[in-house]
Amino acid sequence: MNSKKTKTCLVTAAGQGIGRAIVDGLLSAGHKVIATDRDVALLEGLIGVEKCEVHELDVTEPAAIAALSHYTNTVDVLCHCAGYVDSGTVLDITDAQYDFNFQLNVQSAVRLAQAVLPGMVSRNDGALIFISSVASAIKGVPNRSIYGTTKAALLGLSKSIAADFVAEGIRSNCICPGTVETPSLSERIAESGSDIMAQRKEFIARQPMGRLGRAEEIAALAVFLSDPMAGFMTGQALAIDGGWTI
Ligand code: NAD
Repeated sequence: MNSKKTKTCLVTAAGQGIGRAIVDGLLSAGHKVIATDRDVALLEGLIGVEKCEVHELDVTEPAAIAALSHYTNTVDVLCHCAGYVDSGTVLDITDAQYDFNFQLNVQSAVRLAQAVLPGMVSRNDGALIFISSVASAIKGVPNRSIYGTTKAALLGLSKSIAADFVAEGIRSNCICPGTVETPSLSERIAESGSDIMAQRKEFIARQPMGRLGRAEEIAALAVFLSDPMAGFMTGQALAIDGGWTI
């Protein structure tokens, strides 16, 4: 296994929330970061930052992933953060919703893994980090049917990569956050149509610690997983959830 300290890291959905905190954490740890997002305007603050490159990438577009092949060949660490939190029970899932959620939350992860793995295998070193959720194979969460289904699929994908490439120096792990303070959480609360303060209290109450997670706390785990010190850890689903799944 190659244990070089400075890694080249590709981060998706790096414009805000957990993805952005991971970019900041990896840069602080001295790594080189390729920060990508569908909304390139959200990446403006990273332009000109030392060791950071910025690229537009909609992870649901195979051509956009292929266009980054020059970079994906060199990637030591993939942090795949892009995902969508859809609502509803199984009775609500339409075919279009099913396709959209699987495309964004699962198929993108398959395509990105296919893009970065050959280079990682040739160097006998690589770490894949997928942002799943405790709403997955870990916990059933009301009104999150298609979300939990896709995030559970991500656990299966990560474990299969871990099993298939363990002899080639590749590690693959999932981070499974509880409820984290991010722009998308605020949007979900605003769009719920109900009392905003009451909704927020409900989200907070899910964590026995009585608070929301911070994106930096999720990022710290991603930085650890990218480090050779995490070199004995693979195929895991790591919950970081304020005690939600105790
Ligand atoms: P966020 O809304 O704060 O940020 C999402 C980012 O994703 C935005 O910058 C957006 O432009 C980008 N994005 C959206 N679609 C994209 C696409 N097709 N291609 C590339 N970029 C795209 O989100 P967040 O809350 O930080 O969530 C990040 C990840 O963490 C998601 O996978 C989410 O499911 C997961 N997660 C979040 C929470 C939470 O409570 N916030 C909990 C568990 C898991």
